[in-house]
Order: sequence, then C-alpha cells, then structure tokens
Amino acid sequence: MNEVKTPKKPLLFYYAIVIAVLLVFNMLVTPRLFGGRIKEVDYGTFITMTEEKNIGVVQIEDNQIVFTDKSEKNAFKTGRIEDAGMVDRLHQSGARFGAEIVKEASPFLSLLLSWVIPIALFVGVGQFLSKKMMKKMGGGPDAMMFGMGKSNAKIYVKSSSGIKFSDVAGEDEAKETLKEIVDYLHNPKKYETIGASMPKGVLLVGPPGTGKTMLAKAVAGEANVPFFSISGSEFVEMFVGMGASKVRDLFKQAKEKAPCIVFIDEIDAIGKKRDGHFGGNDEREQTLNQLLTEMDGFEGNTGVMILAATNRPESLDPALLRPGRFDRRVPVELPDLKGREEILKVHAKKVKASPEIDYGAVARMASGASGAELANVVNEAALRAVRENRRQVCQADMEESIEVVIAGYRKKNAILSNKEKLIVAYHEVGHALAAALQTNSAPVQKITIIPRTSGALGYTMQVEEGEHYLLSKEELENKIVTFVAGRAAEEIVFDSITTGASNDIEEATKLARAMVCRFGMSEEFGMVCMEHVTNQYLGGDSSLSCSPETQTKIDAAVTRLIEASYQKALELLRNNKGKLDEIAKFLYENETITGEAFMEILYK
Ligand code: ADP
Ligand code: ZN
Repeated sequence: MNEVKTPKKPLLFYYAIVIAVLLVFNMLVTPRLFGGRIKEVDYGTFITMTEEKNIGVVQIEDNQIVFTDKSEKNAFKTGRIEDAGMVDRLHQSGARFGAEIVKEASPFLSLLLSWVIPIALFVGVGQFLSKKMMKKMGGGPDAMMFGMGKSNAKIYVKSSSGIKFSDVAGEDEAKETLKEIVDYLHNPKKYETIGASMPKGVLLVGPPGTGKTMLAKAVAGEANVPFFSISGSEFVEMFVGMGASKVRDLFKQAKEKAPCIVFIDEIDAIGKKRDGHFGGNDEREQTLNQLLTEMDGFEGNTGVMILAATNRPESLDPALLRPGRFDRRVPVELPDLKGREEILKVHAKKVKASPEIDYGAVARMASGASGAELANVVNEAALRAVRENRRQVCQADMEESIEVVIAGYRKKNAILSNKEKLIVAYHEVGHALAAALQTNSAPVQKITIIPRTSGALGYTMQVEEGEHYLLSKEELENKIVTFVAGRAAEEIVFDSITTGASNDIEEATKLARAMVCRFGMSEEFGMVCMEHVTNQYLGGDSSLSCSPETQTKIDAAVTRLIEASYQKALELLRNNKGKLDEIAKFLYENETITGEAFMEILYK
C-alpha cells in the first residue's frame, strides 16, 4: 500500500520557479521585438542621428517615425513632421527602410506574451508535476490524487505490494470473518442477486498491538481496493463543526472511489457514549451524529466498507453498534501458543534466522505477548546477532530478547552486593519451589538473578504447558501462594524482609480481590458481583459497586486470603528447606538456572 499525501510545499516551490522563469523570459524576448520599449525622442534627435549616419532601420508611419540606431539594439520613435528631404537624407545616411523589424508588438501579441503564455505554462507545469507525483506514489493509472478538502484521511492506493492475509499470522477466526468481506468486494453481484446485503461496518475489538490495523489493511490488500485510513482522534478538532464536515468529506470521497475500505482507528475517540452531562463534548457528539447519519445514508451495496478498531468496546455509543451500522464485531485477541509461534515465524522471515530455531519453545516462553511485542522480540534478536557479529539469528538470541522485551536490558554496571544477590536468589527460588511443589502450578523454565534495566533484580520465566481458559479455585490459590513465596523464603532464611516483594504483593492482592469480588470464590459473599471490569483490554481497571460496609468486609476477606496463602507458603518452604538451600546456592553461584537443572536438584 502506498500512502498518498497532498504535496503542498513542493508544488508552491515549483510555481515560484515558473514565475521567475517567466519574468526573465519577458525581459529577454520583449526587447527584441521592441514591444513597449521604444524610446520617444524629439524630431531634432532624429535629424541629428540621421546626419551622424546613426540610423539602422527606419519605418515611416502615418503620424510617427520609428527607427533604431546603427546597432539595431535601441529603438526610438518620434512624431512625423512635414520634412521634404527626409527620405533622401535617410537614404544617403545608409538607413534601411523596413516595416517588419522595427515593429511595436501588436496588442494581441503583447496580450499573448504577458498573459496567455504565462498562464498556459503555469497550468501545464502544474499538471505535469502532479502527474509525476502520482507516478512516484506508485499508483499507476488507478492512482488518485487527493486534496481531500478538510478531511485529512491517509489514502492508500492499490498496489501489488499491499499487506495480505498471509502476512497476518494467527487470528484465524478474525480472518475467517474478514474473508467474506473480501469476497463481497470482489464480487458484489453474487450477493446482490440473492438479496443479501453486506454489513456496512465491522468493528475490530482487541488489546493494543494484536494486529487490528494490519487486518484492515490486509482486507484492502486482498480485495485490491483503495484503503482510506483515519484515526478517530483526527476528527476531533478545536472548532465545533469541523469534525462533522471531515466525516462528510471522507464519505463523499469514499463513495466516489467505491468499492473501497474506510478504516477508522481508535473509533472510541469519537464514538464514546453520548451522555446527558451538561457541557458535554459538543464537537465529539456532532461528529458522531454525522458518522451515524452517513452510515445510514448509503445502501448496503454501494461497496463502501467501514472497518473500525477499538480497544474499549464497552465505551462505544450503543447507536453505533446497532444493526445497520457496526453490526459485525470481530474479536482480535492476544495470540495463543500456536498464534505466537506463527507470528514469530512470519517476522523471522524478514531477518536472517538460523533454520534450527525452535519457534515452539520461544513462543512458550513469550506467554501473554502481543503480536507487536513478538515482532519486537524478533527485531531485538536480530540486533543482538549484529552486536555479536554473527550472520544469523540463533535460538539464544530469541530467548535473550524475550527477556529484554519483557524485563528490559541487562544492567551493565549494577553490581549486587553478595548479600543482596543471595537474598534475590532465595527470593526467586522461593517462587519457583512453591510453584513446583504445588502440583497444579507451572514449573519454571529459567531463573536468572542478573539485574535488568526495568528494575527487576531477578527474573523467573514460567512455562505454561498448554492454553488455559478456565482456572479452578485451587489453581488460583496456588498462584497466590507462589506470589507470596518469595517473601516467605526471605523470612525463613534471613529472618528479615525486603522491598523486593512489592510487585508480588500487588499481583497477589489483585488476584485475591478478583476471587472475592468477581469469581464468587469466597465463603462470606458467595456468588455476588461486586466489581465491574471497565477496561478489559487496557490493563483491566475495575470499579467497585457495593456499599462502604461491604467494601470493608471485602478488604478483610482479601487480607485473610493472602495471610492464609502466606502461611501455606511458609509451611511448604520450611518443609523443603534443604532443597531451597541447595537450589538457591546453585543459582547464587551460576546466576542462572534452567528448568531442567532445577527439577534435577529437586527430585534427585
Ligand atoms: P493494533 O492496530 O491492533 O494496535 P497493529 O496492527 O498496528 O496493532 O500491529 C502492530 C504491529 O505488530 C504490526 O505492524 C506487526 O508487525 C505486529 N503484529 C501484530 N499482530 C500480528 C500478527 N497477527 N501477525 C504478524 N504481525 C503482527
Ligand atoms: Zn518475587
């Protein structure tokens, strides 16, 4: 896809050059025809010049005499006076009599010179340049040049190098739905004959970086139609009414170019629920109203397909979601294990990668990563290969770069004191040992105690075996035990606690609170929902919906749950103090322990 932008400055620049050229042209050409540059002199000068034999060409007209000097570079004119011997004297002075050389430019000619030619040149150059621009943008004959009026949508024209579905790895369900749209854009007749009309709008919903924009572009690329892209926030302007007129412009252009795809990114910026608040955002509401009107205004089969992306579907105005507008909703979720593997492979094709890389293993390590993060992992791996002067990206590059993307770079000069290093080793082994001892928890893949730029002093990479869609109460409890086991190990071994557990505490509390408020897993409340997730795809903020008295009780229940888990962790680790010491010593000495080495020590 090629993006076409309106080239504003360059064009002005070229016009300025044309004007300059014309000015020079005027000065050079006009004097030769003596148009308008004939100097008026008195008759005495004419006589004197004649006597001095300084007349080049002379032209006698009814009431004036036009003549040049000998060099024929300067022209003069004078009024005609009755002068009997004038012609003889001129003849004797050697002047030539001519009409065609000394000629004042005719009114028509001067009009041509000063107006018609400049304007023609002006327009001609402009046209030539804009054609050249289009060519350069790569659209060929289908390319279009867009002034776009007030709507500043980016326009992508068809091109053979567009993104295809094969470039988007995983996301099979989303692709399935979108393929139907591609088919429709290819062959609308097929649908019209049976009376089916396509949905006007498709809403792509999912967390950031999962490939929503890519999918929309792929639909355009597969269908080989123009692709208009604009971000929702671009509609919202300082001046009331501008957004609405942008929407109008956008749809006008789109209808002219149908079949085509209009992609509105971050539609939540304009499509937020309209609320009755006094002094609400007028501009946004007008823009939204205009969007709704436009979507109603065209028939299902005009061939304009609207795709929109958002990561806050719950905040959209219901009017946008009703049938006839965005009536299709395509979830674009974080990739699962297989999806991650495919995404890694797609991106690895763009770098020189060793054929021995086990993408399955890499994908397993990167659990929870989005497509954008995985693309970043591959790039970091390639950068690491360059740093180490290798020709190929290898497995170790991939593994290291996952840690880089998730935990940040290794801190070069952060040297932990030996005591600190020992504490970190025990803390991390505490997590891992608790996880391994509870049968339902995933074993670790690798633990390192090398400080990272993200601030983490150690890093435990857990392995998930397969995909989990449901978590049982026991599994959740075990997770909490694993979170608090780091602190538990510190307490058992050093009899003092450190700040290193703050992140663990946060995660454990979040989980415990969700169990009480959302999953109905506490005895005292049972299956009552007391918390709503408001921001599913952006970190999952939640808001409480219960009385202050209940809130107090919730806090107490969460505290109890965490305390019980902490006691359980203490017990687990105390019972396995020997293993804890052994593994922590290994980690302290080697700074890294793999999952296999860990299990070997644990079960030997
Ligand atoms: P979104 O619009 O959902 O925020 P994008 O479509 O902009 O995400 O994706 C950002 C980048 O992440 C893409 O340019 C691509 O490199 C990578 N990416 C995301 N998902 C995928 C995928 N499924 N397959 C391949 N690359 C992906
Ligand atoms: Zn920890």
